[in-house]
Amino acid sequence: MNLNEPFWFELVAQQGKARAGILHTPHGDIPTPVFAPVGTQATVKALTPAQLDELDTPLILANTYHLYLRPGDDLIADMGGLHPFMGWERPILTDSGGFQVFSLAKMRKVDDEGVTFKSHIDGSMHRLTPEKSIAIQENLGADIIMAFDECAPPYDREYNEQAMARTHAWAERCLKAKKRPDQALFGIVQGGAFADLREQSARAIAASGFPGHAIGGLSVGESKADMHAMIEVVNAVLPDDKPRYLMGVGMPDDLINGVWRGIDMFDCVLPTRLARHQAAMTPTGRINLMNAVNARDEHPIVEGCQCYTCRHFSRAYLRHLIVAKEMLAATLVSIHNIHTLLDIARGMRQAIIAQCFDQYAREFLMHLAQPQTAGDAIPGLS
Ligand SMILES: [Zn+2]
Repeated sequence: MNLNEPFWFELVAQQGKARAGILHTPHGDIPTPVFAPVGTQATVKALTPAQLDELDTPLILANTYHLYLRPGDDLIADMGGLHPFMGWERPILTDSGGFQVFSLAKMRKVDDEGVTFKSHIDGSMHRLTPEKSIAIQENLGADIIMAFDECAPPYDREYNEQAMARTHAWAERCLKAKKRPDQALFGIVQGGAFADLREQSARAIAASGFPGHAIGGLSVGESKADMHAMIEVVNAVLPDDKPRYLMGVGMPDDLINGVWRGIDMFDCVLPTRLARHQAAMTPTGRINLMNAVNARDEHPIVEGCQCYTCRHFSRAYLRHLIVAKEMLAATLVSIHNIHTLLDIARGMRQAIIAQCFDQYAREFLMHLAQPQTAGDAIPGLS
């Protein structure tokens, strides 16, 4: 722990494997466990930074792939970086661009040096390497940046062996390429749904001396049971004194199950994507606000929810906005959905500090009215 360092992770409390901490960054403290909403195009869709601030959002994520293609990282650097460009003063995390290249780009060709791909916007050709990803992320200027990695389909052993080896070599190149002292570079563990590869990857990435570690390549089609097993294998290896980030995960039960197994950070497009499809997240499951049953319902989405939407508007009004295709619908439902996930993270943190996380986790998962998971939603208490 060094107060002169721009980054340090402070463990505040622990219960079992669950941890409450504070990640100190140049743009402020991030209390953990934390959920980060995604601002793909340097905007969390339908929300102003003031609204995110009112929700007490500690961290947001922006996508390197999208911002590199449009408006361009040089332009953002000329505008002073992402923080002033998008009017957000609190911590930002950027991904490496790797995941989007592998999932969005129209055509891609991977070799040991990097990836050549065709833009999904205009078909132009581009090349992303570990060095280029770091240079883009240094131009964007987020507080936390990610190593360039390769994510393989979870059950393809041969591809995962190859992608993992590349990910490890690229991690070293990212560390060498990094110049800015005011950004923390996190390493990413890969290895698909294979326990031995995950363990090997966690050992290699942990040995590289990153200030934080992420688990990539999960929530990409594997079973919940496999996701939980991989988290356990990896977290048994990763050092306790550095933050652990489970990438792209944001279902309420996944947050609980992740923290249960020692995860500190999450991000997901789910709350805002669902909001644009009329779905509200609640502690007991998902509600489709379009359903006719809501037409004359004077109650809020969740009785007792402290978000702006639930304090001011009925389900009937929200349904009316959706039917009339009013833009405010996406804003109000996004506010509620993001509040729900931030509140779960805050609730877990308080429960860990109060040493009652076991009970909190068990009760939360039991109250999920709809089974949102296949397999073992409720972790065994041992
Ligand atoms: Zn609400």
